[in-house]
Formats: sequence, structure tokens, C-alpha cells
Amino acid sequence: MQPIGSVSGRPDSVSDLERLFEITRDVLEAPTLDAALTSLARGVQELFGWRFVSMVAAEEPNGELKRRVMLGYPEEIVKERLHENVDREAFAAMLGHAVRFFDDCYFFPAERDAEWERSIYTGFNPNETKRQYPNQWQERDALVLTLHDRDGVMIGYMSPDGPLNGEIPAVQTLRAMQVFVNLMGLALVNARSQSRLQYEATHDSMTALPNRTVFSLQLARKLEAVHRGEGEPHSVLYLDLDEFKAINDTLGHLAGDDVLKETAQRLRMIVDERSLVARMAGDKFAVLIPGTSAPAVQSVLDTIHETLRRPYPMAGRTLAMTASIGVVSVDQGYTSIAEVLRDAETAMYRAKTQGRDRNAIFTPTMHEEALQRLSLRLDLREAIEERQLVVMYQPIVHLDTRHIECVEALLRWNHPEQGYLAPAAFLPLAEEMGLMEPVGRFVLDTACRDLARWHQAGYSNLGLNVNLSVQEVLQPSLPDFLRKLTRTYSVDPKMLSLEITETSILQSEHRAAGILDTLKAVGVDLCIDDFGTGYSSLQYITSLPIDSFKIDQSFIAALADPKGEQIVRLLVGLGEACGLRVTGEGIETQTQAKTLMSLGCTSGQGVYFHAPLPAQDISALLR
Ligand code: C2E
Ligand code: MG
Ligand code: MG
Repeated sequence: MQPIGSVSGRPDSVSDLERLFEITRDVLEAPTLDAALTSLARGVQELFGWRFVSMVAAEEPNGELKRRVMLGYPEEIVKERLHENVDREAFAAMLGHAVRFFDDCYFFPAERDAEWERSIYTGFNPNETKRQYPNQWQERDALVLTLHDRDGVMIGYMSPDGPLNGEIPAVQTLRAMQVFVNLMGLALVNARSQSRLQYEATHDSMTALPNRTVFSLQLARKLEAVHRGEGEPHSVLYLDLDEFKAINDTLGHLAGDDVLKETAQRLRMIVDERSLVARMAGDKFAVLIPGTSAPAVQSVLDTIHETLRRPYPMAGRTLAMTASIGVVSVDQGYTSIAEVLRDAETAMYRAKTQGRDRNAIFTPTMHEEALQRLSLRLDLREAIEERQLVVMYQPIVHLDTRHIECVEALLRWNHPEQGYLAPAAFLPLAEEMGLMEPVGRFVLDTACRDLARWHQAGYSNLGLNVNLSVQEVLQPSLPDFLRKLTRTYSVDPKMLSLEITETSILQSEHRAAGILDTLKAVGVDLCIDDFGTGYSSLQYITSLPIDSFKIDQSFIAALADPKGEQIVRLLVGLGEACGLRVTGEGIETQTQAKTLMSLGCTSGQGVYFHAPLPAQDISALLR
């Protein structure tokens, strides 16, 4: 093909047009911007006969100018200059010294000394001037054809440079080359929309974190490397925010979104560039970290928990968030990423059932249990309708006289195949499935009805304790429900004590006082359950409208230890000082009961006195 770069050549032969069409198609179909630009550069070499073609283009999102293609250059120069960033200002200054052929076409002669410039540059006419220039690579002539966006910002340039065969190209040639520059514009627009599409396909729009697809791809790569025996082993941390649903349900989806964004931001901050954080779904995030050694993984886990626990300032409120994290080592035992993610999720659920705000490292037995839980999930809705839920009662006694002061309602699920299940096995599921309201109301209703019967049977001093989960505490309709309930069964609200854990209070932090006040206004008692296991307990004790607290069973178990005894002594003293009733939970031995009594605690609960019992057994006990 006769190069159109020659002075006489014009890009009007049919084969040239065909070639131009092919190049255009390549540009439009190129999978990447660089591939499109390379096709273009080849076309320029071929059609115009230039030996060196270099292309600089800006790419989204930052718009930085970068040398993206260098064709024909010696290898050492490519090595040095390909991918270099081009400084806009310096480049503009350089253009200022060049010969401007027409709008976007500049010429840099090889000899650029001032004398020469003056003689050449004045009255320069590209059609007439033909000059001999040195052909050495180091001192070559160069052309620059620039490309601007609609706002006039330069978004790239093509530089087909020397040797110019000793000729200034004809103006038609330069105009024809301008076509290529315009094609470059097309490639850029294309790349921009492609990279946007790609960004959208790989990122979560709300948190801007990489999405599940990206995480899966990365994980697949690591897993392949493990099977090839290459690279560092990795761990997957699968994270789910605790009680996130309650936030969505009570503060609204916008607040929920803010929590997710903030969480994403915090997670992004704490991992290094060798790790990957992704949003997997809803309030589930995953982190892929190098290393599987216990200390290394633990230190990342600690940092995550610490970071998330810091208060979330949300629209004037302060929330405390925690997360449950499942941990899996990506090892040879796995043949697919689906298995890795499944096990990570299983371990995460284990962390949830163990009380949230903690980690669980996957073990194979968990898988078995996960299958069981899946079937439980299917059964749970039915359980409510088919009345398989049962309320048991555990007496709380006066430590000295053993007289039953009140009973605590403890929920059981009488599962048709698995028998009686403890709350830990299914309440987290109920919360997740949004079934906490019907479950909680069932407990309240059943327990109040039973209490009314015991009162009618003559035990009118018997009190009733009912546990409330954070989701229940946050329900705005709860106070009215309680009012109706106590009216329906004619029980004095004063005989009802609602047990709330410190974690629940933390999770409703800003509104805790308000919520507890409305509950108090119903006339019920409020009791802090598992006291001492949350954070900054002293604060609540003095500022919230509570009537009693229960010393967590872990403290009772530690009573044998002198330090443990000191702590319980302190807790009992604290209750006394604040005018609160104090109950010791989980009393299993006579020694524990005696020690507690000696420390001044008057009420206790535990299998040493009575295990949780069905209602009719309580009736018998009372008699
Ligand atoms: P909790 O309110 O702290 O209840 C005390 C737990 O300790 C009960 O476990 C009880 O069976 C157990 N326990 C009783 N005596 C002893 C003892 O001597 N030693 C030991 N180690 N444990 C003893 P359970 O019934 O499995 O309930 C676990 C938790 O589930 C409860 O902790 C409570 O937070 C929650 N829960 C139970 N029923 C309900 C309910 O109806 N609604 C809500 N929201 N939560 C409930
Ligand atoms: Mg309780
Ligand atoms: Mg407790």
C-alpha cells in the first residue's frame, strides 16, 4: 500500500477507506482502551508510513494523562516511557514552543535552538516548507495531534514522530491524521462507558466496595494457587452486623444505609492493599486476608471489632454496632469457592448463636449443625402457628427462706423431631427472619395468662420476669401491647418485670432512656439481665429508670475464686447503693448460694434451687 503520508498521497483510495473502516471497527470492538489505541497506532503506521507512534490518553476515573501506546520505539525507550504520566501544564508549555500547523496539530522540529526556531517559526507554511532534518532518533522531528473534550480539556494526543523522511507532511495528510485522533476520541468515550459498566458490575453502588463477584473471583484465584501449591495461603473473614435488622426496622432504611456505608468505610480503612473487603449482601461483608496463622488472623479480627464498636453518629443519634465474624482458611480441602463461602457463613452463624460480637473459626462439625439449622429455619414459622413454642418458668427464690418470689419465663421450642430446643438454638433465627415480634408477644401473652392463674389461685405476691430481645425493646407498639395485656388478664403491671440485656441498651443507646421511660410509664419493672457482661455498666445503673439487675452467671461461676468473690461483693454493694434489687443467676451449688448470701445478695436463681419447669409444675411447687 502506498503510504498516504507521502506528500502526494491522499487517503481516498478504496483500499485506504476499507482499511480505515477496519481500524474503526477494531477501535469500537476493542476489549480495552489500550487495545483500541494499539489498533489505531498500527493504522497510523501502516497508512501514513510513520515509524514511531505514541499515544497519550486520559482514562476515567481520575482523568490522568498517561502514555499508553508506543509502537516502533526501541525497547529501552518503551521500557522507560510507556505508562509515564504526562503533566498537563508542562505539556501545554511545550506546545507553546511548537509550530502550530492548525488547530490541534503541532510540529516540533528536531533542531530547536533559538536561532533556528526564529528562522523557521515565523511565517511557517506547512504546504511550502520542505526541509532536511537530522534523522537520528535522539534528535527527531515530532508531530503532536491533540484531542479535546467538549469543555476544551485535553484528553489525549497522538504523536507520530520522526524520522519524517526529511519532509514536512502535506496538510491533507495532517488532516487525514486528524481523523485518527478523532477515532482516538471515540475509543476514549467507549472506554469510559465500558469502565463505568465494569465498575458498576464489580462494585456495590451504595458502599462503593467491591461486590460479591469480585470477591468470588479473587477467592477463586487464591484457591487455584493453593491447589498449585503456590503463593501465600489466605483466610476469609465473613462478617455480619449484629441486630442490623432492628436498626432498619426502627430507624428506617436510610439510617440502615448510613450504617452500612459507615461500616464499609471503616473496613476499607483497616485492611491493607494485600487484602480485599467486599460487600456480599445486605449487612454481610467479607474480607480476604493473606495468612492463616492464628495470631495474624486474630489481630485483624481484633482490629475489625474495635473499629466497628466505636460509636456510629447517625443523624443526631449514637449507635453502637457489633459484628459476628466467621473465619475459614482457604486450604486444599476446598474444591470450590462456594464451599469456602458456605463454611465461612456457617462459622459466622456460630458466632451469632454464641452471643454475637465475636468470632468463630470454622470446624467441620459446624457444617452438620448448619444443615440442621436450615431445616429449623423451615420449621420455625410452622412452630409458631402449630403452637410448638412452650414457655417454661424458673423460680427466683429468696436465698435465705427459699420462698419463691417470682418466676422467669424461658422459652422452649418443642420440636417434633428434635425435642425441646433452647432459645439460643432458634431465637437468633427468629430475629433474622423477622419473627421476633410474634414470638415475643406469644411469650408475654402466655406468661401473663399463667401469672393471672397463679394470682387467682392465691399467690398474688408472685412476680413474673420476661426477657425482651433488642428487637422487641425497640418496637414502638410494645408499651400499648403491655397495657392491653395487663388489662386483659387483670394483672398489676407492677408484678411484671422486663429483663433487658445491656447489649440491647447499648444498641438503642441514644434512645434507651426514652424507650425505658415509656415502658416504665406502663407501670412495669425493668431489670438488667446478664449484668456486668456489657460495657460501662455503671452509667446505666445511675441514669436509666431501672429497678433491679441480675448478676450474670459467669460471675457466680467464678465465686470460688477470691477475685471473683470480690467482684460479686462489689456488684451487690452497687445495687444496694443505687437502691436496686439484685439477683444472682445460674446458682448451681450450695456453696455458691451460701457465698452469695454472705455477700448480702438476697435473691437467687439456678438449678441448685429449681430448673426451668412447665407451668403445671410451678403450680404444684407453689402449693
Ligand atoms: P437468661 O435470661 O440469662 O436466662 C438464664 C439462662 O440460664 C436460661 O437459659 C436458664 O435455663 C439458664 N440457667 C438456669 N439455671 C442455671 C444454672 O444453674 N446454671 C446455668 N449454667 N444456667 C442456668 P435458657 O433458657 O437457655 O435461655 C437463654 C437465654 O435466652 C436467656 O438468658 C434469655 O436471654 C434468652 N431467652 C429465654 N427466653 C426468652 C424469651 O422468651 N424471649 C427472649 N427475647 N429471650 C429469651
Ligand atoms: Mg433473663
Ligand atoms: Mg441472664
